[in-house]
Order: sequence, then structure tokens, then C-alpha cells
Amino acid sequence: MGNMVRNKSETCIFCLIANDQDKETEVIKKNKELVCFRDIDPAAPHHYLVVPIQHIHSCLSLHSGHIGLVKRMAEMGKTVLQDQGVTDMKDIRLGFHQPPFTSVDHLHLHVLAPSSQISKRMQYKFIPRTSRFVTEECLQKRLKDNAPPVISEESLNQNEPHGCFVFPMLEHYSNGSIINCQEPYLETETGQ
Ligand SMILES: [Zn+2]
Ligand SMILES: [Zn+2]
Repeated sequence: MGNMVRNKSETCIFCLIANDQDKETEVIKKNKELVCFRDIDPAAPHHYLVVPIQHIHSCLSLHSGHIGLVKRMAEMGKTVLQDQGVTDMKDIRLGFHQPPFTSVDHLHLHVLAPSSQISKRMQYKFIPRTSRFVTEECLQKRLKDNAPPVISEESLNQNEPHGCFVFPMLEHYSNGSIINCQEPYLETETGQ
């Protein structure tokens, strides 16, 4: 296992950046747990990524024990925005891409501002409540509930013989306060 971890940190670009081994990338903020740097292909006037130094594959690898981590990632993102002169903290967008829509398979929080100035060309990548993008708040709610991130065709057919695990839960989401998080659960991966 030790070898696998080492190989990962040698090949994963975000591991390299997090460990100060990528000269091209300027780390804007760093603590023991997280680093923040500019997105290489910015979609808004301010576009940063916050990543854990430890290699975590994606938001689908997280469980309720990671709620604190997600919160701290968001806090660092907001602090960097303020450091960079962003004043309207309501016009920001924070969120994660969900596999298979991740460009780098190392958990990263996208921090964009102003969200009203996200470029038209790239807007589709950052639309909340799609299977591609989950907002930081939505992910926290999901982790709190320990809900499965995606209900695939397979899980409907195989995991629960009576299907009674899946459908009442969807009902719960559509009636509950976390209705905004509904779509990621509903969409299957067959579309793309
Ligand atoms: Zn990595
Ligand atoms: Zn991404």
C-alpha cells in the first residue's frame, strides 16, 4: 500500500502542487491540511482551487467524517477571495465536480467569483444541482445524511431486491429541506 501512495503523489499534479513540487504553480495559501492555488483555466475573474494535501480521489470518496474537511476547504476558499479583494461574498460559487466530470482525480473545491461573471463558454461546468457539479453546501448536506451520491441503474436493479431503499429516500429528498440537492441523486450516469 505504501508504494501505491507514493506513486500517486509522484504522478498526480495536485499532489505535486500540494507538496511544493510544481514550479509552474504559485500556492496562494497553505496550512497543514490544505493548499489553494489559481485554476489553470479560469472561468471567472477569480477562480481558485482548494485541495487537501492528502490525496483524496473525489467528492464521491467522502463520508460524514469529512464534513469538517469540506467546511475548512470552503473557509479557505472564502478567505482567499477576501484576500484577493472580493467584497460581494454573495456573488460567489463554491463546489466540486463529480466523476466522471473531474479533470484531475484529486479532490478540489472550485472557488469562483463573481459568479455572475462566470464565462458563458464554461458556465455549463459549474451549474449547481447537476450531476456534473455539486455545491459545497449541497455536498455537506449529503454527507450529513450519509446519502449515496448517485443512484445508478445498477443499484436500482441489483442492490435492493424490493427497491424500497431507493424510492422512499427520493421522496424524502423531494419533500425535505434539501430539495436543492435532489438532482444529483436522481440522475444516472447513462446520459454522458
Ligand atoms: Zn493527488
Ligand atoms: Zn474540477
